[in-house]
Formats: sequence, structure tokens, C-alpha cells
Amino acid sequence: MSAEFDLKIHNTLADANLQLAIYTATGRLKEKRIETVADSVLPDYQDLRTQANAIKKHAIENLDHYLEEFERNVEARGGKVVYCKDGTEVSDFILALAKERGAHLIVKSKSMTTEEIDLNERLEHHGLESVETDLGEYILQLAHERPYHIVAPALHKTRYDVAEIFTRRLNVPNEIVIEKQTAIARGVLREKFLAADIGISGANFLVADSGAVVIVENEGNARLTTSAPKIHIAIAGIEKVIPRAQDVATFLKLLARSATGQALSVYTSFLSGPRREGEVDGPDEFYVVLLDNGRTKLLPDRSKRESLYCIRCGACLNTCPVYRKIGGHSFPWVYSGPIGAIITPQFMGAGHEPGLPFASSLCGACGEVCPVKIDIPKILLELRSDVKKSEAHAKQNRLERLAFRAFAWLMTHPRLYEMAGSMAAAIAPSDGRWIRSVPSPMNVGPLKAWLSERDLPPPPAKSFRQMWRQR
Ligand code: SF4
Repeated sequence: MSAEFDLKIHNTLADANLQLAIYTATGRLKEKRIETVADSVLPDYQDLRTQANAIKKHAIENLDHYLEEFERNVEARGGKVVYCKDGTEVSDFILALAKERGAHLIVKSKSMTTEEIDLNERLEHHGLESVETDLGEYILQLAHERPYHIVAPALHKTRYDVAEIFTRRLNVPNEIVIEKQTAIARGVLREKFLAADIGISGANFLVADSGAVVIVENEGNARLTTSAPKIHIAIAGIEKVIPRAQDVATFLKLLARSATGQALSVYTSFLSGPRREGEVDGPDEFYVVLLDNGRTKLLPDRSKRESLYCIRCGACLNTCPVYRKIGGHSFPWVYSGPIGAIITPQFMGAGHEPGLPFASSLCGACGEVCPVKIDIPKILLELRSDVKKSEAHAKQNRLERLAFRAFAWLMTHPRLYEMAGSMAAAIAPSDGRWIRSVPSPMNVGPLKAWLSERDLPPPPAKSFRQMWRQR
């Protein structure tokens, strides 16, 4: 574990207010999810999970086919699909388009994919104004912070924090009533929507057989983002494609329930192509940016590519005992919690934070709640194994590797093993506290801490082998 990861965890654990905020917010989301997926409310919940898993599995195994079908259907409706390898290619495309159209102001709806490539920072660096319009994201943009949670980005902020941020950044009176804070943000954002040249959104699903981009949200800001400006650009990871429009029904039954405990989000938009003749609203130009950014690296691995099934519901975060203690900002990348622990090393490389797959109790709660049945604990174990095998980690833990090699050698030499066991039993004191006095150099560093908390039981009078021989 890097010193930075360690420090962030310790700081979060030491902040009592933050601990309360995380625990309360995730607890509420967790309870709401349990209520809305209960047998009495949704008897086919487990069948829906199985179905969602099968659809995602099929889509990922045939990704090239469905992406091409999606592209054909978007273009048939007057839109354009742009494939981008990474964040640089995405920002180059947007910057070139903005320059050609003389665009300066961009409004954005919530998108973890754009967080992943620091899109706002890239665009602002080149003189464009890019404004987040989801309330939580807007608060964080003003505070210069990244999302704390993939569904509830400002989960760690109290209304007092928000009052302070608005006063400082928007020059408004200190306002602690949540409804009034919302009105302040709405007043600012309405002006931005009306003046924006480009709207950028994410996508929850890309439907191959109709070329539709499906967006679910609760605030209506994504609708305004995608319909008010003359240009709409949807940015999505390539794994968001699903085969058929009828598959959307399966995911919609699971997504909002798993995310916020709602039967359905307030708004579900199906967007395909620019405004057609006779339509009263919608953009003149419609683009879908399909982002790789490390995703194709997962495809050859049959087991780990399951990570691409994720529909970003956040249920695994809300139920994870580790996330609920260490929060979102302790994690080294924009994705936090169990899903962050499995996709960060795969997208960014295991060296990005080797300790990440180990930041889990492996209790299995994440796998239990995942609506698309990703076996997160299994993937964590595989990633741990990868880390152990990696050169960098091997160097860090030479002593540990040496100890395990010696142990493996001893275990494969029964006579020596037996002799070593007899010798240990002969010299060990009978009070059972002998492991604490293991001499240096074994009794150092993390090993010392481990030993200080543990006793071994007193050695038995006879070993198992001796008893076996006597019988
Ligand atoms: S891994 Fe599963 S539970 Fe976690 S965010 Fe993704 S879909 Fe939701």
C-alpha cells in the first residue's frame, strides 16, 4: 500500500463528522435498496439479475459486432460515432469541433466516464467553460473536488459545507436551507443552459438495434443538457452497448433500485440522432464518443472482463464495510469502493496502487448486491495474485517470498517437516505466549505488530504423526 493511500485512509478514519456522513448516507441507500428488491415487492429480482448478467456477458463477448451495429444505426438517424482511445483523443475531438463551430460554453450532465479522463480540466485548459449541471457535481466543481461516490458524488458534504462553498464561489448570502440552496444553483444553471453551445452527457446504455443513447437521471438536467444546446455529444465507455431495445427493460428494473432504492429514476431519456423535422426541441448535431481508455485490455481475460458488465449503480459501495469506513476520496482514482478496486488496476495498471485489491475484507457483500452478478471477490483474488506475481511487488517483498519458498520446501520434505515440528515443540514454552518472543530479525515492522496481537496454542504432548503411528 502506498504512503498516500495509507495517509488518506487514516485521515478519513480520524474525521468523526466525515465518518458519520458516509455511514448515514450509504446506510440510507443500502436500506432503500433492500426494501425495493424484497421478494414481496420484486419477486423476480434474482431472475432479473441472472438475465442482466447473461445480456452483458453476450454483449461483451460480441462487442465488435454490437458496436458496429450501434454505429450503423446512429448514422442512419443522422448522428455520428467517434471512437477514441483515451482522454486526449476525446478532448482533441471536442476542441476541434468547438473551434469549428465557434463554441465557448459547454454544459455537462453527470458522467463518470468524463470524470475518468478529467474532461473539464482538459477543456478549461484550452479556454472553454465547462459547467457541471447535476447538483452534486456542480457543488464539487465549485469546490474543486472529484466525486466521492459514483451515484451520490457529494455524499460527504453537509448543507453547511454547501452554504460555505456557494458563498465563497458564487458571492451569495450564506444559505443553509437545502431547498434554497437548490434554487440558487438552479438560477445560475438555467442561464448556462440557455447560453450553452454544446451539451455533453454520459450514457447509461447504448442500444445497438436502434442506435439509441439511454440516460437515466433524477434532476432533469440531463434532458436540458441534451436538448437545449445546438450540439449534443454523448460520451460513453464501449462496454455500455447492449444488443436490443427490449433489454433496456431488464436493466431499468434493476438500476434505480440498486442505486437509490427507487422503482425507476424520475427521467429516462432515449436519444437517437439530431432533431428531426417537425420536432420542437433537440440538437442540430448529435455525436456519440465511444471511449476505450483501457477497456479493451480486459477483453482477453475471460474471468476479469466481467468487470465490464458494471452498470455503475453504486450498490457495492453502499454495502461495502471498507468503503463505508474509508470513503471515496481515499481511493486512488475516480472509481471507488469494490468496483473501483477491481477496475482501477485493470484500466490503469496494477502498479497504479498495488494495495488496492487488498483493501477488502472479502466478505462477499458486494457480489451479493451487484445487479449484474459480477463476482467481485473472485476478481479481487485474481488481482491480488497478479500483484504478487508482478516484478515491482516481488522486489518489495523479498523477505516474504523467501519465507514462503522455505515454507513450501519444508512442506514438500515430510521427514524434515516432522523434525522441525518436534524441535519447535521441544523448545516452545508451555504458556502459549511464545510466538510474541520470536527473536529479531523476524520480529520487526508489520510482522512485529502482527505478532504482538497473537498467541499460538501450547504445543500438544504428541504430534498428529506420532498419534497416527501409534494407532
Ligand atoms: S459492480 Fe455491480 S454493484 Fe458495483 S457499481 Fe457496478 S453494477 Fe453496481
